[in-house]
Amino acid sequence: MQRFNVGEDCPVFDGLYEFCQLSAGGSVAAAVKLNKQASEICINWGGGLHHAKKSEASGFCYVNDIVLGILELLKYHQRVLYIDVDVHHGDGVEEAFYTTDRVMTVSFHKYGEYFPGTGDLRDIGAGKGKYYAVNIPLRDGMDDESYESIFVPIISKVMETFQPSAVVLQCGADSLTGDRLGCFNLTVRGHGKCVEFVKRYNLPFLMVGGGGYTIRNVSRCWTYETSVALGSEIANELPYNDYFEYFGPDFKLHISPSNMANQNTPEYLEKIKTRLFENLRMLPHAPGVQVQAIPEDGIRDDSAGEDEDKESPDERNPQSVRDKRIVPDNEFSDSEDEGPPGSNRKDHRNFKGAAGNTPNRKRPRLDPKTGVTSEGPLEAKPGNTAAGGGGDVEMKLEEKDEKVGLTGGVEKKEVPVTTI
Ligand SMILES: [Zn+2]
Repeated sequence: MQRFNVGEDCPVFDGLYEFCQLSAGGSVAAAVKLNKQASEICINWGGGLHHAKKSEASGFCYVNDIVLGILELLKYHQRVLYIDVDVHHGDGVEEAFYTTDRVMTVSFHKYGEYFPGTGDLRDIGAGKGKYYAVNIPLRDGMDDESYESIFVPIISKVMETFQPSAVVLQCGADSLTGDRLGCFNLTVRGHGKCVEFVKRYNLPFLMVGGGGYTIRNVSRCWTYETSVALGSEIANELPYNDYFEYFGPDFKLHISPSNMANQNTPEYLEKIKTRLFENLRMLPHAPGVQVQAIPEDGIRDDSAGEDEDKESPDERNPQSVRDKRIVPDNEFSDSEDEGPPGSNRKDHRNFKGAAGNTPNRKRPRLDPKTGVTSEGPLEAKPGNTAAGGGGDVEMKLEEKDEKVGLTGGVEKKEVPVTTI
């Protein structure tokens, strides 16, 4: 137990294995969907467990779903960009890809006497991965304006120099104002601007959850960010629901910043930015990868349930669908009867446009109606970069698909938001 750091912060609990299955399986399934261009945006709010190491649990994280998801994306994508806006450093993901130039990790986090203690500005990667790890160490009190002033130029420069063909965004909500463990001062709107900005690049986009310890604000944040991903506006007035009383006294979606001091002066942020730009200038433009066969997918794609097709996003799942779920004996969440955050599937017909752009594959396409993901507005994208990224890689797909990561029911389960 000690060897794997299971105990204090990461205790064993009943249903732990299934929890890890759901969280990790969700991100892998999402990556498979993106690889097949069955979705343009996939969300796994139960994922984002960025502290877990290959052989070590850490910071409430047991299995690093993000690393597994990125590994899956790398089967089809030459370069994957990882961005982390959790208040804590994304150490597990950084460590996993510290020596490769195929994944760039960019973490914005509180630094200085703060968990996990890593993420110094000078930590930039090693070996082939030198300059492919980017760390933005921040002080207490980051507000919306400061955050945008550093997020936008850095991500713009990263996109320009690294030219990823897929992006993973860890949306840890502990960077919000009033978080029980965090020390930033972001509003839901400011946090959501990161999603909005990344989405604009129109790359295959995987959004995952992460930390968040003032639960009502985590719900607000990921609800809003789901709407941003979908490109649909939602009212500030919260609709009545079973958990309505948690959102008092105002019962609004959006939150206001506190009056805490922002210790990140414009000069400090400017200094960081200049230093990081210098590092990014050292990168060769968009490194390539050797042509190689594509390994088989990490998850099978025939888990569609007929009943799921009939689901209405506004109604609770029918009993037949709920029966298929695997629910642990002890419940993690009060909300097991709720549909998954992204169960709005009305736009499926639009996948067909993107499908026409898919490289020649032997296997039937994944039924887009399955899975943990929620899809964004799905206009056909003739110039989809996923096709570009995978286009010069030989397509050698096996017919057999015996690797079973999840069953149809498992990936539908909503997982709690109390992860780091
Ligand atoms: Zn965190």
